[in-house]
Amino acid sequence: LEPKEEFDHSSLTVDVMRPRRSDPALAVLTQESMTVGEVEALVESTHYSGFPVVVSQESQRLVGFVLRRDLIISIDNARKRQEGIVSASQVLFTEHAPAQDADGPPPLRLRGILDLSPFTVTDHTPMDITVDIFRKLGLRQCLVTHNGRLLGIITKKDILKHMAQIANRDPDSILFN
Ligand code: ADP
Repeated sequence: LEPKEEFDHSSLTVDVMRPRRSDPALAVLTQESMTVGEVEALVESTHYSGFPVVVSQESQRLVGFVLRRDLIISIDNARKRQEGIVSASQVLFTEHAPAQDADGPPPLRLRGILDLSPFTVTDHTPMDITVDIFRKLGLRQCLVTHNGRLLGIITKKDILKHMAQIANRDPDSILFN
């Protein structure tokens, strides 16, 4: 992101973040209610570089952010080297394990690969401020919240695409809109 590039002052982060209205929902992981098999299915069915981790689907409270490649490596390693890790094993991003089902397989603990303080902005943050944060902190992605709940994600590429769209617009339409 070039510092000298001008940004459209009227847009808000909500206008540039994903998912858009027509997109599939944000792909998130829950902190303690998914199995290894469910996490693998989500990773395989999407191409995203990372996944927000939330307390629960209902709450959408943000716990952290996990990179796709770290998830793949950790699960592959655990399946090969860790006793009892199977598709039905619970994936735990929490510090403490919930009371364990004595009959079930042991859980896979993945708190170690979780970024516990991912950068966030609110949906109503003006885009020029969000762009400034990306530039100054060298971010690749940033999560978007609304009233403390996770709403979406915005990547550096989303911003660059949005800038390109603005640049390609007829200058008159920018001036008079
Ligand atoms: P990039 O934008 O650098 O290609 P990604 O591959 O992570 O990065 O994201 C591709 C697109 O999907 C972007 O528009 C981004 O906003 C969106 N996206 C990223 N992560 C998720 C996710 N977990 N759920 C839904 N959409 C996402």
